[in-house]
Amino acid sequence: MEKESPNQFSNIKNIIGIMSGKGGVGKSSVTALTAITLREQGYNVGILDADITGPSIPKVFGLNQRKAMGTPSGVEPVVSSSGIKIMSINLILDNEDEPVVWRGPIISNAVKQFYTDVIWGDLDYLLIDLPPGTGDVPLTVMQSLAIDGIIIVSTPQDLVKMVVNKSMKMVKMLHTPIIGVIENMSYFICPSCDEKHKLFGESKVRDAAKSMGTHLISEIPMDPLLVELSDEGKIELYTKHNFTFSDTYQKEIN
Ligand code: ADP
Ligand code: MG
Repeated sequence: MEKESPNQFSNIKNIIGIMSGKGGVGKSSVTALTAITLREQGYNVGILDADITGPSIPKVFGLNQRKAMGTPSGVEPVVSSSGIKIMSINLILDNEDEPVVWRGPIISNAVKQFYTDVIWGDLDYLLIDLPPGTGDVPLTVMQSLAIDGIIIVSTPQDLVKMVVNKSMKMVKMLHTPIIGVIENMSYFICPSCDEKHKLFGESKVRDAAKSMGTHLISEIPMDPLLVELSDEGKIELYTKHNFTFSDTYQKEIN
């Protein structure tokens, strides 16, 4: 299928999708933390929020009162305080509380336009925060954008693993490379004893990843501070995000 091209004002080196079978497992958090880490390493980074019906990227960056500006050449993304360029449906709508009640093809077109009509400029990485599941948008993104790889986000529970397997199979069917799996809410660190505790028993995600020919990139703990800072729109102040990056991960996306 013909791949879309970005406009003449955009030059994007790597496109990475963040996907999972289920909602609420931490795709948006992982997308944000990955962007923040890459930005700290000096890369130019953009986030395309492809979750049109459940956008959460502007809020965690504290940009929900901001609007993307339309110009004759295209739409200017909103830039976060650390310099991450962000495009989301919530940066266009007048009222962020209004639900988007659109049919699949219209939603998919909006996502395509976030790629083709936004003035991204020079980006080392464009991260795409995908909606949950294996529906229209992930399909459109993998078929019509030149995706370099997909990161799958999972939590440790069995049920989640099953849905994650579906996502991995979809990615494979579409011949898109899987960078690896991030297990979120993997454990929590007991504040008094400083030990790691598993919340959902022994995880099977590592084995699931292996059986699909990929690997676990990293395990992110459950951390109330992450929720607090996300709710306040200050996720860029979360300093423990480097755990989303193992050396292997860096190697594979470079
Ligand atoms: P998704 O994009 O997959 O729907 P989110 O990233 O929005 O998931 O996360 C869902 C909720 O869980 C949010 O309130 C978020 O702050 C919280 N959350 C995500 N990851 C963690 C974590 N590691 N520790 C604590 N809370 C988390
Ligand atoms: Mg999300």
